[in-house]
Amino acid sequence: MASVSIRALDKWFGDFHAIPALDLDIEDGSFVALVGPSGCGKSTTLRMIAGLETPTAGRLMIGGRDVTDLPPRERGVAMVFQSYALYPHMTVRENLTFGLRVAGVGTAERARQALEAARLLEIEPYLDRRPAQLSGGQRQRVAIGRALVRKPDAFLFDEPLSNLDAQLRNAMRIELKKLHQRLGATIVFVTHDQVEAMTMADRIVLMRKGVIEQAGTPLDLFERPANGFVAGFIGAPAMRFFAGVAEAGPGGGTAIRLDGGETLPMGDAAAAPEPGRRVRVGIRPEDVVPRGHGLPPQRGFAFTAPVLLSEPLGNETLLIAPFGGGEVTSRMYRPKPVRVGDVLEFAVDLDRLHLFDEASELALP
Ligand code: ATP
Repeated sequence: MASVSIRALDKWFGDFHAIPALDLDIEDGSFVALVGPSGCGKSTTLRMIAGLETPTAGRLMIGGRDVTDLPPRERGVAMVFQSYALYPHMTVRENLTFGLRVAGVGTAERARQALEAARLLEIEPYLDRRPAQLSGGQRQRVAIGRALVRKPDAFLFDEPLSNLDAQLRNAMRIELKKLHQRLGATIVFVTHDQVEAMTMADRIVLMRKGVIEQAGTPLDLFERPANGFVAGFIGAPAMRFFAGVAEAGPGGGTAIRLDGGETLPMGDAAAAPEPGRRVRVGIRPEDVVPRGHGLPPQRGFAFTAPVLLSEPLGNETLLIAPFGGGEVTSRMYRPKPVRVGDVLEFAVDLDRLHLFDEASELALP
């Protein structure tokens, strides 16, 4: 397996600067998710690693070898596409071994490798079927199997789960994670789905407009988002933001007076923003606890509000309530029935507020 190093990689499409000078290091054996909104440049980055797109400038190393000018087949990577790209007229066995045949691998060895991949992916019973005779999940496995038999230094996945239904997608997430653990393979995985990225990857690289906004472990991005964009993208349902201004609070600490009315005491944290500074306060749904429906926070800001919307999901219910001139989402574990219009008391966990500078959007320490 191999590391991938990207140095000042630049991509123009005509006069559109899709990727400006990207730097990224992907460790040997890691599972990295490139994630971000549509059009942020995830696929272009992956395709440049694969050699399917030519960078305008910059260098690319795989396993310490400069592959920038090498064609795709000499890079030691295998790509799995969203569409699976299987040959419809070939059987599963032929699909699995086509690349080996082209590379001149003998019949017996091809058969052995097809069987090994099929066993690993549990598609052995389908080796003689054609793609049209398989379910979406089975086709997906064949596409992965075809990448496996090439024994690449790195696997590149471009939204491979987006054509599967929700249940199968969950199952394949676990399969892929297990496969990664078993093979110790370097995997670069593109997805627009932050939940997929959070659950599978060791590291998330979150992009916007061709630029990396933050790279780190899923928990890093969730707990310590570098800016408002990362904070709003990671976490479902999304964090809500409220504009306000820092001021001297009662008892010497700092407080944030929200434009919508409420004043949130910040405690005496040394790093509280200086009075007068405009900020945005980010509040996650799990940090707004309805009274009697979970552990109350140690330092809570209590408010009473009518429920505007109630979304029961079985194991939890999401509630929307007016707060801070806008709306806040509250996550209720072990839910009881709540109707729209019911008036509840909520507590916002003051130790888990996220603060961002209003102008720069950067996280305040
Ligand atoms: P999605 O999740 O929608 O697939 P993405 O993050 O993978 O998006 P890319 O496909 O990498 O985004 O595209 C990045 C930007 O480059 C987009 O604005 C896209 O329109 C543009 N782009 C991609 N390929 C080309 C091309 N061949 N010609 C011109 N512009 C392109």
